[in-house]
Amino acid sequence: MQPPPNINDPPQSPIVDFNSILIDYPDHDTVVDLSSIELPDTKKSSGFNLHAIRANAKDLQLLARLCLPLATIFYFTTIAAPPILIPLSIIIPTCLLFLLYHLYLYRQFNDAGSLKKFMISANQLDIITAHLAWLLDPAMPAPMMLLVIIAAIGNGMQHGFSTFRSQMQSTVMMAPLVFLIRMKLLGFHSLSMAFLFLCAFLLAYAYFLIRRIDGIQTEAETRSTDLELNNFKLKQLGVALQKSEARYRNIFDNSSAAMVLIEDNMMISLVNSKFLELSKYSKSELYNKKRLSELIYKDDLQRIRRFHAKRRKMGGTTPTEYECKMVDRSNNIKHVIIRFNITQWHERIMATIEDITSRKQAKSALLRSIKKLRQTAARLTQSQKQYRSLFENTGTATILVEKNLRISMANSKFVELSGFSKNEITGNKRLTEFIERKNLYRIRRFHTKQKEKGLPLPTEYECLMIDKNKKLKHVVMKIYTPEGQQSSIVSFFDITKRKQAEAALQEAHERLRLVSVIDELTQVANRRQFNEKLNNEWSRHKRECLPLSLIMCDVDCFKLYNDTYGHQNGDRCLKSIADALKKAVKRSVDVVARYGGEEFAIIMPNTDLHGALIVAESARLAIEELKIPNKASTVSSSITLSLGVSSLIPTANMSHDALIKDADNALYEAKNQGRNQAVAGKCRKDDENKSLKDTCRNKDTVRTSPPKISPLHDLHNYRQH
Ligand code: GH3
Ligand code: MG
Ligand code: MG
Repeated sequence: MQPPPNINDPPQSPIVDFNSILIDYPDHDTVVDLSSIELPDTKKSSGFNLHAIRANAKDLQLLARLCLPLATIFYFTTIAAPPILIPLSIIIPTCLLFLLYHLYLYRQFNDAGSLKKFMISANQLDIITAHLAWLLDPAMPAPMMLLVIIAAIGNGMQHGFSTFRSQMQSTVMMAPLVFLIRMKLLGFHSLSMAFLFLCAFLLAYAYFLIRRIDGIQTEAETRSTDLELNNFKLKQLGVALQKSEARYRNIFDNSSAAMVLIEDNMMISLVNSKFLELSKYSKSELYNKKRLSELIYKDDLQRIRRFHAKRRKMGGTTPTEYECKMVDRSNNIKHVIIRFNITQWHERIMATIEDITSRKQAKSALLRSIKKLRQTAARLTQSQKQYRSLFENTGTATILVEKNLRISMANSKFVELSGFSKNEITGNKRLTEFIERKNLYRIRRFHTKQKEKGLPLPTEYECLMIDKNKKLKHVVMKIYTPEGQQSSIVSFFDITKRKQAEAALQEAHERLRLVSVIDELTQVANRRQFNEKLNNEWSRHKRECLPLSLIMCDVDCFKLYNDTYGHQNGDRCLKSIADALKKAVKRSVDVVARYGGEEFAIIMPNTDLHGALIVAESARLAIEELKIPNKASTVSSSITLSLGVSSLIPTANMSHDALIKDADNALYEAKNQGRNQAVAGKCRKDDENKSLKDTCRNKDTVRTSPPKISPLHDLHNYRQH
């Protein structure tokens, strides 16, 4: 805040410190360089002013001029004594003629002003008259000589000594002529000698006088030139001052700042239009009626005065700028800055008043807005801190990903998950660098498809992530892009352990499933699996009218084997038989199962009796091929197998037990017929199956396999034989 002035103080204690103010010199761009101008020296100019006399004594001049011819007439008529060279009848009219000519010249001179030619004519006339007079009376030269001198001095005084000089010259030149004439006429005379001396004196005098005149003339000319130059400079200065004044007035009138001129009695003497606009007073209300202090808000004025008193006490200078409030004519308060410029021009004070009301309002609005912004910033900082803390302590590996997929922030959990340091990640790595290549391609392909379909992109992905050590981790990646933001928050949930647990569980399940369906000893399907499979196949074959075959196998004389080689060998033997049976069945859909003890069963989907008998035969041969010794056997020296084969197309009124029973019967038959053989069941012969199949085909509802090449009957018969 600027310290305030004391405006109402008397003029002897000025508002501002005058010492602190510099004289306001004109600008450099004025028309003439004012410093180069020398004003005329008053002492020099106070001398004898020839022009002034010449100008003011025209009438006296005329009088003097007229005296000369009149005096000549008077002399020749009254004083002059003969011999006179020219008769009076010529002298008198000539003189009168001169007189008249003078009067004519005077008139011309008055009418035409200071015409030089008239002046010269008058002078010449004077000189001619004087010399004429002198020459006419050589006997008495003295009076005429006096007349000539008077005329010459008079002329010199009137017209400058330039004329006097020429006069003197002509006089001196005429002197010897006059002397000679006189000698001729009168002979030698003492007066003539005196006249001669006078001539000599005049000659010498003329010489010095001429020099003096020359000096005076040169001086006068120089002075005249100086005066003319000064005059010219003064004119230019005047022009410059006029321009400058006009310019300053223009600046004053059109200044954007309100300006006021204060007289030394503190009264306002001049204001510009801005000030009128600001104060709302008219010029007549202000000029010499108001003081500037009367327009300043009372409290501010007192404050300024107090400040001034304090400042004076301390002996400091008073400032030239004050910020205060101003009251206009309508009692509106305006914030202003008053700047005082103490001009050196008649001790007046120029004050510039700048209206800062709007600036003040803007400033206070700005301050309010800054305060608000600060509060918001503080809140934001707080909130940012909270978010950062949240981001850091979220418990989930989280990163902030920019639009170009570059990672701009990563929390410590992500650092832990990825194995990279924060510095390595932020600003350097892209999100894609952390996703396993195939997974990345999969996601990209998926994105492309979604975009093609115009569907939204998912926000959650399950994929493999690569850490710093190239180790793969199962993660669920969740992407969240806040509304209107360019960056996305990506969280990673490490599901590797869960995945591992899932895999372990899957494995356990599989194991359990296998345990429940696989026979532990022989690793073929157990009885439960057999039942399930047979049940399923039975239903399917019934639906599709397809032949289903079952082979029931029983190891011959196995009790004896056990008795002979022990149970453990018996188990091993059973295992070998199971492996051989698995190899004997060619189709993957055929199921070899342990039916119980040393009995096996083979389910053969979509196989007729003919095909089943072929498989049964090859199975029997395969066991024989094993050549497992069984010396106690009543059939062979090695392990053999008896097989009962049954095949039928299931119908609605049948259950799969019929198939088992038929195969079992056939097996029983095989045992009875001496073992180590395959016997077809009697449940339904192949031809019956064929007719049944035809029925199904006619219904056009079932698919059947093409009929087998070798007829079942033949083989059956062959075995029976
Ligand atoms: P056959 O030719 O009439 O079938 O005579 P067999 O001795 O094979 O018939 P039997 O039913 O009398 O005997 C079956 C034997 O099979 C009884 C049992 O000791 C043996 N056996 C059944 N299950 C197993 C098994 O899991 N392991 C072993 N080592 N032997 C078994
Ligand atoms: Mg048995
Ligand atoms: Mg047996």
